Amino acid sequence: MALIVQKYGGTSVANPERIRNVARRVARYKAMGHQVVVVVSAMSGETNRLIGLAKEIMPDPDPRELDVMVSTGEQVTIGMTALALMELGIKAKSYTGTQVKILTDNAFNKARILNIDEHNLKSDLADGYVCVVAGFQGVDANGNITTLGRGGSDTTGVALAAALGADECQIYTDVDGVYTTDPRLVPEARRLDKITFEEMLELASQGSKVLQIRSVEFAGKYKVKLRVLSSFDEDGDGTLITFEEDSKDDSMEEPIISGIAFNRDEAKITILGVPDKPGIAYQILGPVADANIDVDMIIQNVGADGTTDFTFTVHKNEMNKALSLLRDKVQGHIQAREINGDDKIAKVSVVGVGMRSHVGIASQMFRTLAEEGINIQMISTSEIKIAVVIDEKYMELAVRVLHKAFELEAK
Ligand code: ADP
Ligand code: ASP
Ligand code: MG
Repeated sequence: MALIVQKYGGTSVANPERIRNVARRVARYKAMGHQVVVVVSAMSGETNRLIGLAKEIMPDPDPRELDVMVSTGEQVTIGMTALALMELGIKAKSYTGTQVKILTDNAFNKARILNIDEHNLKSDLADGYVCVVAGFQGVDANGNITTLGRGGSDTTGVALAAALGADECQIYTDVDGVYTTDPRLVPEARRLDKITFEEMLELASQGSKVLQIRSVEFAGKYKVKLRVLSSFDEDGDGTLITFEEDSKDDSMEEPIISGIAFNRDEAKITILGVPDKPGIAYQILGPVADANIDVDMIIQNVGADGTTDFTFTVHKNEMNKALSLLRDKVQGHIQAREINGDDKIAKVSVVGVGMRSHVGIASQMFRTLAEEGINIQMISTSEIKIAVVIDEKYMELAVRVLHKAFELEAK
């Protein structure tokens, strides 16, 4: 007997028939003698619909109230899933994040999980129940409803698996595993039987939405056995996230690059003519961090005239907030020439642990983009990743030509 956490995404619970389908799969696992905890997302489109409603009332919705609204999507699907299980004669009980007590910090809309009280779930499991837990939501120390950021149900699933000491966390979605890149963009993309945790972390952090990055972080920290599978297939092993790089090397033909991620969600902020002196980076990024705005890439170039141009990227949703935060300071004590924002950018990244032992990956990437006339605006690298910022309109082309250049297609 194993304890398995199964997370089902929005398309997998999009209507009553699909929820019945989820219940049938859960029933099969129960019949095998396993204990099952189910985590569900809202029906696909529902979270966007709720955000839209909030914005009709207040264009930039108050974060606390937005969480009160968007968390309702998952409250509907836990009830429906529990009902569907009962209809199959299976004991089931639904739980909101508050009812479990998934304790988070109070960063509304992007809260972090601090602790999960696993006692009630454990005793219900022992009594033969399937526990159906709402993804994406938690509760802060003051009892406020919080949400974990878009795609956050993945994180609920993995965090629950960690807290319960589950044998496996299965992420059921609308593709049958992790591919070399988004198969919706590149139909030739190839499914990976396994991928290392490090690569998955890079792909997720570079924008591959198949798993929310925090879910991968949790899996790494607590060594949760994590698998991505399709909820529409009866069988198939999906993609296993592995912790040993060695396990990948069973074939000499293992590619150097495992995958390509892309992200249209970032915007670029550039401050021109910044005096080149100590403390400037802090003066610019300090207030941004204080406002809880995440910064991704940063570059700075010193020009001949003793000033520098300072560029960084933030989430598109936070560009205006960052701009208004810095505008006064730029003209004031920072004494820079001007500040501007550009949200027509995209980031494309190639990821692979094989890069460590191979030189020339960057030059191959840059040559491939140059051959298509695609200008690179920013570059950032890690041991296993090279990321570039380009004009948004070339993003799809860039992903396709890189996928081909690195020979990632299905054989
Ligand atoms: P869910 O609602 O089940 O959480 P998501 O839409 O969040 O599903 O994630 C699944 C989607 O991720 C797929 O439909 C696919 O378009 C996209 N995706 C992006 N990159 C990849 C990749 N490398 N491999 C597989 N799917 C990917
Ligand atoms: N329903 C939430 C969203 O759409 C959480 C999730 O689906 O993972 O982002
Ligand atoms: Mg998702």
